[in-house]
Parts: sequence; C-alpha cells; structure tokens
Amino acid sequence: MERPTLLLTNDDGVHAAGLAALARAVAPLGDVVVLAPETEQSTTSHSLSLTRPLRLRAMRPGWFALDGTPADCTYVALHHPSVLPRRPSLVLSGINHGSNLGTDVFYSGTVAAAREAALRGIPAVAFSMPSEGEPDAWAPFVTAMVRAMLREAEARPSATALLNVNFPAGPAKGVRATGVGVREYENLVEVRADPRGRQYLWIGGPSVQREHVPGSDTESFAEGYVTVTRLALELGAQDPEGLARALGDAGAAAMTAPRE
Ligand code: MN
Repeated sequence: MERPTLLLTNDDGVHAAGLAALARAVAPLGDVVVLAPETEQSTTSHSLSLTRPLRLRAMRPGWFALDGTPADCTYVALHHPSVLPRRPSLVLSGINHGSNLGTDVFYSGTVAAAREAALRGIPAVAFSMPSEGEPDAWAPFVTAMVRAMLREAEARPSATALLNVNFPAGPAKGVRATGVGVREYENLVEVRADPRGRQYLWIGGPSVQREHVPGSDTESFAEGYVTVTRLALELGAQDPEGLARALGDAGAAAMTAPRE
C-alpha cells in the first residue's frame, strides 16, 4: 500500500489545539495535509462562500489557512490544483473544542467539513470533545481508529462512510456505536445596548436538557462513553401521511386553474 494522504481540517481555526493534536496523532499513518479556517467558524454548518473571493495562505509545508468556512476548506483542498499531492484516503475534522452530539450535527462546522468530503466519495470522520478537555489525551484512540479506517478504505475502496466521534468529559468507560440523539439549548435572545445606545442581540443559550433517546450519542456521552455514530447522507424522510403529495396537489391545482 502506498503511503496514504490524510487531509485534516476543523472549524475552530488553524491555530486550535485540537487540530494540532489530531495532526500529531495521525502523522505516523500517512502524509498529512492541513487546510483549516484562519479564524473560528464554529456553528457555520455546511455553508460555502460563493459570493466573495477566498484567500489561501501557505503557513509551512503541508499547512494552509483559508479565510473561509470549514466546508470551503475541504472543498478547496480537494479541488485546488496544488494543495494535495493526490486524492486523500480520508478526511479528518477536529478535534473540535466542544461536543457535537445529537442535533448539534445540523449546526456543526466540524461535521460539515467531514460531510463535504463524504459527499464527494471520500470517507471522513469528525472528532469532538468537551471544550474543557485535553485533546492529546485522545491521541491513542484517534491513531488506532484512523489506522483501522485506512485498512477498511483499502479493502473496500467504494464504501464511503461519514462518522461522528465524541469523546466524553473525563476518562472513558468504553466505546459505543450509537445513534443520533437530541440535544436542546436554552432558547435565548439577549437584547443589549451598545456604547452608542444602539440595540444588539446575542443568541444561543447553554445546553440545558436533553430528551432521553435510548442508544443515542447524547445518552452514552452522558454515561461517560466515547460515541461513534455513522451519519447518513440521504436526507429524504418517510411520509406516511402523504403530506408531500397532498400539499403538492394543492399547488398543482393552482397551476392549472384559470387566472382571474
Ligand atoms: Mn468548533
């Protein structure tokens, strides 16, 4: 097997400790290329910057910073003519400072950077830990999991997987394969006044309560386990009540009705 290329990114920015820890953990496994946002891009989800220019800055060999979103970083790395020496075997995102559990997956830039790779057929993993955690503590787990994933990718090159890994607060009781839970936040809009008397808003409250979902990442995280969740790329939902058809028919009737 030729030495694999590993693309690393994150949403906390190129200077984040979690990214450096991730790079150290996987350096023995392949040629590591890092392309990460210049500044923190947490909760920017899967946005791409299509309406403004992007600046790519070479920092040192194999390390790049981009003034864009996490998904921009993966996109640019995969399609730029000279960032990667070859198509990467895996794309790794994180280690995020802050958990990405349950519904966080919708908002997470860390997960989106990995998803952008999976959408293009490259297996990808997002790693997250509680913000007060020490990322180097998880290096042995990361190294072993990524090594196993490289073996898997070599054995079944067409199988694409998107995985979301969360480390617990404190030492792990074990590792569980989990589903996606529900994580709720205090619904908060802080209304304040700036020094010139103009109103500004600050949104988003702390994580307060989570619905109990058996077998979910939120539940196993609360019990002190490392959670490994496989995320689907298909967004279609079952529609048992036929709501889509009924509403579509309502619109269709309007299209064929004579205009007044
Ligand atoms: Mn983040």
